[in-house]
Amino acid sequence: MFRMDVSTAVCLYVMSSLLAIFVGWILFEKKVIFPKFIREKADVWECSICAYIYVDSTHHEISQCPQCKSYNKKSPEERLLES
Ligand SMILES: [Zn+2]
Repeated sequence: MFRMDVSTAVCLYVMSSLLAIFVGWILFEKKVIFPKFIREKADVWECSICAYIYVDSTHHEISQCPQCKSYNKKSPEERLLES
């Protein structure tokens, strides 16, 4: 077995707690980035005719469904998510 003195033990303790804070910080930063992901979800359309879900980031008001070729309009609550 290896022996260690008090200063080494304190150093290891401080290092491990700093590492825990750092990991917590990284996780917190990821949560801050999360709202951007929700904003990208505004480009997801659900067809009102065939319920097909697709992504169209080029159009914001009206979009054509690739499945049934019908046009879909953004609902007011979805438009609230965009702004
Ligand atoms: Zn459709």
